[in-house]
Amino acid sequence: MTLTILDPATEAPLAEIELCGLEETDAAVAAAKRALPAWRAMGPNDRAQILRRIATAIGEHQEQLAQLESSNVGKPIVDARGEVGMVAETFWYYAAGPERLMGSTIPVAGGVDMTFREPIGVVGLITPWNFPLAIAAWKLAPALAAGNTVVLKPSELTPLTSLRLEQILLEAGLPEGVFNVVVGPGPVCGERLVTHPDVGKVAFTGSTAVGRRIGVLAAEQIKRVTLELGGKSANIVFADADLEAAAAAAPAGVFGNAGQDCCARSRILVERSVYDRFAELLSPAVQRLRVGDPRSEDTEIGPLVSAAHREKVRSFLDDSLTVVARAGTPDGPGFWQAPMVVEPPTLDHRAVRQEIFGPIAVLLPFDGEAEGLALANDTIYGLSGSIWTRDIGKALRMARGLESGTLSVNSNNAVRVHTPFGGFKQSGLGRELGPNALDAYTEVKNVFIAT
Ligand code: NAD
Repeated sequence: MTLTILDPATEAPLAEIELCGLEETDAAVAAAKRALPAWRAMGPNDRAQILRRIATAIGEHQEQLAQLESSNVGKPIVDARGEVGMVAETFWYYAAGPERLMGSTIPVAGGVDMTFREPIGVVGLITPWNFPLAIAAWKLAPALAAGNTVVLKPSELTPLTSLRLEQILLEAGLPEGVFNVVVGPGPVCGERLVTHPDVGKVAFTGSTAVGRRIGVLAAEQIKRVTLELGGKSANIVFADADLEAAAAAAPAGVFGNAGQDCCARSRILVERSVYDRFAELLSPAVQRLRVGDPRSEDTEIGPLVSAAHREKVRSFLDDSLTVVARAGTPDGPGFWQAPMVVEPPTLDHRAVRQEIFGPIAVLLPFDGEAEGLALANDTIYGLSGSIWTRDIGKALRMARGLESGTLSVNSNNAVRVHTPFGGFKQSGLGRELGPNALDAYTEVKNVFIAT
């Protein structure tokens, strides 16, 4: 079957791709299995050298990859460049991995006891459409560093940079079969990776619903899984915060990538005594957002990824919501959706409870620290969030109390290559990035030698 990939900003065709099915997925797993013995046996220094060459090659192709990602996802070119920069940084960071994967010796009676970190084998990666290349790299770089071989199944909506990455890695000297890309439907190719007996681990990023299904299928084979899932994160603004700074930062905290961000701080909680003042500051900051052509260097927000996704996002809007702030959108073709901050009639409204994954945020008042914490934690999710206050004690009490994996204080920014990322509760299982991500792609082996 042929799939036409559209540019979300123009609705014009970008590319035609042949979709893979079960046969191609099995062939990719077989290729990864064949490549495994030589890759895992390669000296750590040689494997590290190849990862460094890959990092260099991605840096050299930064503009090309950014243009491709921008046109396929509809994300602003400036953001796409930043993401490709992070992809190169991820390979630089994990290039140190092969030479630092160490075991330990443990004092025991009667001999010597030692541990080794072994690769798991063939690893299946399943990625979403919102940050296609960055999320693939977060999994791929540590998986390769630890000596695994990989099959990546990107989202069918946005496969173009993953396909280009496969070529770049081969040109940079990665042996054939070590990294394989299959583009096909999730329920076909994705599920095949999860159930395939030769795949030792699946690392998934996507919706909580699909993550749950993958968890169930993986459990049947006790397959290793890492799940990075949805979110409904809180942006908590206390009365003692720098309100100007908090209001200026709030739009980027939720509307970046047109709100199609698992870390989107889509519930803005404001202490009641400054609620009206904050809303007054927030409104012009939202109105000023530059929504438009992703190719323009000035654009801050692009379109949504598809017409179907825009329908889903719009299904959250109804007459019971009061619009507090709104940005404009371009006329003409493109899957545009105006960024909006709304007040819900009750805390049970769908827009408060569910992940919208689009540029819509709810604004909610709270009274005092305890109520703010309870409101922030009143969700099945626990991925990200921000706390705005000048009181460091309060910031730390809130940070410790929040059931969330990736937090920032007086900032929106908590995702970095060298720090752990992941979710509490139904936002996921396991952590990516940072030094411990290597552990997620290895098994610990213990060996006792009698003396
Ligand atoms: P999705 O769950 O629909 O799809 C993700 C991937 O899974 C795609 O490649 C898809 O083809 C595949 N898939 C679908 N059904 C499958 C199945 N039955 N078995 C195996 N694979 C299957 O998610 P999406 O719409 O692409 O992305 C949006 C979601 O991803 C949001 O919920 C968002 O919060 C989440 N997300 C989470 C993170 C994170 O790090 N926590 C990051 C980005 C996105």
